Amino acid sequence: MYKLSLAHLYPKLLNLYGDLGNITTLKMRCKWRNIELSITPIDIDENINPQKYDIYFIGGGQDLQQSMVAQQLQNQKTALKDAAEQNAVFLAICGGYQLLGEYYQPHDGKKLYGAGLLDAYTIAGKTRFIGNVTAETSLTSPRTLVGFENHSGLTFLKEGTKPLAKIQIGNGNNGTDKTEGARKNNIFGTYLHGAFLPKNVHFADYLIELALEKKYKEKVQLKQLNDSIETKTHENLIGKKY
Ligand code: GLN
Repeated sequence: MYKLSLAHLYPKLLNLYGDLGNITTLKMRCKWRNIELSITPIDIDENINPQKYDIYFIGGGQDLQQSMVAQQLQNQKTALKDAAEQNAVFLAICGGYQLLGEYYQPHDGKKLYGAGLLDAYTIAGKTRFIGNVTAETSLTSPRTLVGFENHSGLTFLKEGTKPLAKIQIGNGNNGTDKTEGARKNNIFGTYLHGAFLPKNVHFADYLIELALEKKYKEKVQLKQLNDSIETKTHENLIGKKY
């Protein structure tokens, strides 16, 4: 029986618009395939042991919560870098995504330095992007990703980090370059809430496969599940602006 372990970073502070649904989706899709997924919430004052986890999840939050997390991330930077070097899978949503980059400069107050796992930086913009997003990725089949964005931060990617997807509807990283999210090795960031994985179960499976391959060092092909409802949900949201 395959076993995976997931660290849920700062769930009390970062959890917006159903972000918890991402964890439930991973848990259930593992369970239905007889894969054990243990979930450990990591609180703000805890140290992270990078040997322990195969997957890290960090959700979205407002600037105040982000500033509390940013301070702690500086203490955990080495542990998170170690985890990334061991090819652990990271999924970061919105505010959490911003904090995996180099920094987030909010409207008011000081620059918040991030974990630096992604070559990206974020600056608060003048408009808030709110609405549904459809984007296309080359990583999965189907290629579409759907979700809901609500952010004013504008994220720009630098050399070394690629976009996760290309925007078809909505704004994504910054509303101008048509990129959405980021990917560097097994580290993924996205602005898609809503929750992201229940609406994109093909992407959830992609993450599970990567985590199993990281842990067991073998190519893994997951058993197909009956996704008729999930597929309908996904397809129904493609191309919808609101
Ligand atoms: N504070 C960030 C922004 O508005 C993140 C918000 C969020 O996580 N939804 O850009």
